[in-house]
Amino acid sequence: MLELRGVSRRFGQTLAVTDVDLAIERGAFVGVIGRSGAGKSTVLRMVNRLVSPSSGAILFDGMDVTGLKGEALRAWRARCAMIFQQFNLIGRLDVLTNVLMGRLNHAPTWRALLGLWSDEDRAIALSALEQFDIANLASERAENLSGGQQQRVAIARALVQEPDVILADEPIASLDPRNTRLVMDALKRINRRYGITVVVNLHSLEIARSYCDSLVGMAAGRVVFRGGPADLTADA
Ligand code: ADP
Ligand code: ADP
Repeated sequence: MLELRGVSRRFGQTLAVTDVDLAIERGAFVGVIGRSGAGKSTVLRMVNRLVSPSSGAILFDGMDVTGLKGEALRAWRARCAMIFQQFNLIGRLDVLTNVLMGRLNHAPTWRALLGLWSDEDRAIALSALEQFDIANLASERAENLSGGQQQRVAIARALVQEPDVILADEPIASLDPRNTRLVMDALKRINRRYGITVVVNLHSLEIARSYCDSLVGMAAGRVVFRGGPADLTADA
């Protein structure tokens, strides 16, 4: 279980997130919805500690991750993979190598730096690409792929990391409807097949309703709604 207890974050005078309490069960598929600036991204970034809370606590299976540093922080980050709107692939490297980056925490760094990935790591990376129907792109440069393909590569990279949680920050914001479905289907598949908890920030209520098991609505840094997709009517 992932828990946020009274979590707040300010940036200078801006209260980005105020007193957020959340409890997310293992294996849940949770959508965080709200307008731009509502604090959704800051919430996700605090979970994997790209941003630290100003106050409050974040716990995972009872472990307080709020103050982790050094090796313990690295270990925590390995357990919660991030997916970004802009994919964050290394454009000049091929797709398979990008996915292998997700194996960094499973292999000594010097091996990775030399490109000495084991056959097992390569097989795992290729199998992840197969799951998202992009194994044929394994040797293409990442920068030559469409946005929807790049996001599926990013999801494959997150999967091979073998995380407990995937945090996806507006993963479909720059995609067309077809690629939106492919990417959301990929996240759903990971969630269902491996039981990985997925927390995804979304603009689109329609997508949130059709994919998420539960929803958290944010406005002006606060949680203003919690419920299932069916509770989300036009005037909720
Ligand atoms: P959302 O993801 O819902 O669009 P954000 O979490 O990105 O919202 O932003 C919430 C608020 O915090 C906004 O007012 C934003 O401008 C501010 N904010 C976010 N990150 C920073 C930062 N690094 N520095 C200053 N202000 C920030
Ligand atoms: P397939 O049967 O399609 O080959 P596998 O179950 O062997 O699929 O695994 C495919 C991908 O899923 C691999 O990239 C592997 O790293 C990843 N994977 C397998 N088991 C887990 C797990 N428990 N948690 C996260 N990722 C996993």
